[in-house]
Amino acid sequence: MNTDRRGLFAGSAAVAAALALPAAAQQAAAPPAPAQAPGFYRFKLGGFTVTTVHDGFFRRPVEGFVRGVPTAEVQALLAEAFLPGDQLTIPFTITFVETPRGLYVFDAGTGAQMAPTAGQMAANMRAAGLDPARVTGVIVSHFHGDHITGLTTAQNERAFPNAEIIVPAAEWAWWSDDANAARSPEGQRPNFANTARRFGPYQGRIRQVRDGEEVAPGIRAVSAHGHTPGHTVYHVADGADQMMFLADLTNRPEIGARRPDWQIVFDFDGEAAAATRRRVFDRVASERMRVTGYHYMFPSTGFIAREGQGFRFVPADWSSQV
Ligand SMILES: [Zn+2]
Repeated sequence: MNTDRRGLFAGSAAVAAALALPAAAQQAAAPPAPAQAPGFYRFKLGGFTVTTVHDGFFRRPVEGFVRGVPTAEVQALLAEAFLPGDQLTIPFTITFVETPRGLYVFDAGTGAQMAPTAGQMAANMRAAGLDPARVTGVIVSHFHGDHITGLTTAQNERAFPNAEIIVPAAEWAWWSDDANAARSPEGQRPNFANTARRFGPYQGRIRQVRDGEEVAPGIRAVSAHGHTPGHTVYHVADGADQMMFLADLTNRPEIGARRPDWQIVFDFDGEAAAATRRRVFDRVASERMRVTGYHYMFPSTGFIAREGQGFRFVPADWSSQV
């Protein structure tokens, strides 16, 4: 017994000696720091390929997020969705549509210039094989900073060097005219300078579009004013398949779909935003149309169902096959 144990110890020592690797090799063998898989997800829409690309998130207090509603009521709704009641996490997800006539993207992300927890769009695009130089058109929903800042780099160079920029005419009219600053909520006034800065390098490549217009083959503008003066969602169709890019029709659907009449702090015209939410949700729910949203939980695609006095977001079935 004793001999056996000694033999065992001797054996262990030999193993330990064998494992005395050079320091560099030991470091290489250490497990990597935990990280997520790249944040992109694909699905087919007719002959088009849609890719949602995650840009990270931003956190803000729940308090003050919904206008005129007691915080406890907002927290109760968040608890129903198993979301914390102190801080609200607002994800950013950008929708790409690959068509036979070009690669289009809805909005431009934060460009890694807005929050330390956001700015992963470029890395996730690389992981998804989406080259910014190949983007045919950036189709913009509205001019809030989290949607247009990524149009240019920190040095204000074009992030999509070969793209045409497609913008809602009403949105352009409002934010490109400083005379409207006094008639804008104070918190939204920085949008005037940011609009001038981000669109500047694209001069001569900006196209204004109107409600109902086909802005690219299979992609149509649908006015959804209220969140901003020209906020626009986009209908995408190929053959019998269709979807709606909902942009900021709501912020997180756990709040905005369930209580479409609640007005959030970022809504420019709260009443118009609420009426627009009901109108667009009525359509996508009736037509059982697929949707993507900018502030929805990744991969940010699913359906809108009617529930009670409001609606409910139903995530699409995840598939390993595109
Ligand atoms: Zn937004």
